Order: sequence, then structure tokens, then C-alpha cells
Amino acid sequence: MSNPVHQICDIIRRERSFLILTHYRPDGDAVGSQLALVLMLKKIGKRVAAWNDDAVPTKFHFLPGASLIRKPPAKPQKFDVVISIDSSNWQRVGTAAEKIASRKHLINIDHHVSNDRFGDINWIVPSSPASGQIAFDLIRRGGFPLTRDIATCLFAAISTDTGSFSYANTTAECLHVAAQLVGTGLNVGKISHHVYESYPYARLHLLRLVLADLKLADRKRIAYYWITKEMFEESRAKREDTEGVIDYARSIDGVVVAILFEELNEPGKIRISLRSKNAKVDANAIARVFGGGGHREAAGARIPGRPSEVERRVLRAVRAEIRSEEHTSELQSHSDLV
Ligand code: 5GP
Ligand code: MN
Repeated sequence: MSNPVHQICDIIRRERSFLILTHYRPDGDAVGSQLALVLMLKKIGKRVAAWNDDAVPTKFHFLPGASLIRKPPAKPQKFDVVISIDSSNWQRVGTAAEKIASRKHLINIDHHVSNDRFGDINWIVPSSPASGQIAFDLIRRGGFPLTRDIATCLFAAISTDTGSFSYANTTAECLHVAAQLVGTGLNVGKISHHVYESYPYARLHLLRLVLADLKLADRKRIAYYWITKEMFEESRAKREDTEGVIDYARSIDGVVVAILFEELNEPGKIRISLRSKNAKVDANAIARVFGGGGHREAAGARIPGRPSEVERRVLRAVRAEIRSEEHTSELQSHSDLV
């Protein structure tokens, strides 16, 4: 398929009013990519709105333009162009979808392998470590402005989706993009301070409660824990404070898959986060069993059901995925011998 970047650049130059969307419960890549597009479009004189059902997490309030992200309005509005970035399907943009009275173009920019291509124009790059890197590509290839403020948003986006430039998705290209962003004069130390060293005490309190109930299964290859409603109440942590909580389960030596179960406010609904440490064990495939998605290394889903039943079903699916990987490895090592 032809690369849609030229078409997207033409539309950006030609049209006047834009709505920029991303997924609910936004992470650093979502907020950073969304804001980078907002700031760039404003800089070239466009009318721009940006919506999300959920507030920008506190640690990203320092990002330039963060206050421009609003809740969707009560009354539907008209736009020439709607751009969704970092959302793998249209449901994940939330109620914003119902507040678009009309639009000429729906552009879908994303790096999730599970993206279902809901746009009129789809620019999906699963090999890209962050949607922020695709936004950078768009800005460069369109000859659009890259100010220090825009670069700050993109750096935060790429930094958070690469685990501060530590995961396997941190390619030479990614570091090259980061170097160009830093070259605009942005302050790396300030970004890291806000994103990685400004957690509210309540998050640490929550973490203590969560880690106290860490469980291991499948010969210690699966590590998992729950965040219950009671834990939120006791710690006074917010939903946004759960970001990164799964990393502690993943960090254990010998663990292949880490799972975080979170009881949502919606009764009878559980959110799961999955992390895989083995390139052959596909977290996205496991999430898909439950109607979710993501990447091979990191994926998630929302599952209706009672906690104990959801836990049982998810553990079964994770074990099955680990087994199928073992099967493939055995077959491969066998064929290596013959
Ligand atoms: P996290 O575990 O950090 O919430 O998400 C990990 C990855 O899985 C992210 O790329 C995120 O977009 C994706 N993801 C998380 N939850 C869902 C879900 O319910 N549906 C889909 N399609 N993707 C999800
Ligand atoms: Mn992302």
C-alpha cells in the first residue's frame, strides 16, 4: 500500500479546522503526540480542538499546551479534519466520537499492530516505537514547524513508550529522532523530572498494597497482582497512578509474562495489562482473546466478569500462549538438529 503521508500533508495544508483525538486513559505517548499535532497546527494558523474523556495525568501538566485538551463538549461540532493518534480503534477515543457533527476526513495515525484501520486514511507503522515518532516523521516530511515546545511533547511521547529509551524498540532511528528533538534546545532533565520523579505519595502507597499481594504461577514464569477498588480507596491514588505499576512484576528474573488486573469503577469490569519478556510470546495475541489489543510486548483489554473468573480465564490464556511458544521452540531446535 502506498504511504499515505503525502495525502495527509496535502489535507493539512488545504483544510482549516481540525480536531485531534487519542485514546481514553491517555499515557505519555497519547498526550505527547496529541499536543505535538495541536501545537504544530496552531503554529501554521489552523483552528484546532483537542478532546479526551479523561484528564491529562498530573505528571504531564507541564507539557506545553496541556490545558488545550478538553472534555468533549455537550453539543456536537463540525470540523474539516479529525485526526486520531495512538488509538488502535475508534471505540478507544471514547465519547468524542459522538460529538463530531461532521468532518470531511478521518485520519488514523498509530503504531499498534492491532489497529483496525478505522480511518478514511490510515498511517499505521507497527515498527515505530511510539506514535510520537510517526508525528515527528509527519512534521519533517511535510516541512511543518518543529518548535522547542513541539519537540518537548514528542520527546515525552517517545521517552515514555520506550521505557526511557531502554526497551527493545529503541532503535538507532529512534535515538536519532530523539537527538534531533534535543537539538531544538529542550530540557531533558526537566522532562525526566516531571515524568519519572514527580509521583504523588499516594502512588507509592498504592504500590505497597499491590506488591504485598504479588503472585507467581506457571513455575514462576507468570507474575501477577490486583489493584482492587479498596486499594484505591485506602491509598487515595488516582486511576492515572496505575501507569508503570506493572513494571515491577515484569522486572522479576525468570518471569515471561506479567499481568496487572485492575477493578474498574464500572461494576463487573476488569482492566488487564499484559507485558511479555519473550519475543516469541505475544501479549497482543493474548489480549485479543478478550477483545483487547496493543503490541507484542505490551497489550491490554477490558473484560466483563467476576474477578476470580476473569483471573482464571486470563491465566489460562497466558499459559496457553507460553505453551505454544515452547512448542515452536522445540520444533525449531529439532529441525536445527536434522
Ligand atoms: P497498558 O497496559 O499500558 O495500559 O497498555 C499497553 C498497550 O496495550 C498500549 O499500547 C495500549 O494502547 C494497549 N491497550 C491497553 N488496553 C487496551 C484495550 O482495552 N484495548 C486495546 N485495543 N488496546 C489496549
Ligand atoms: Mn503509543
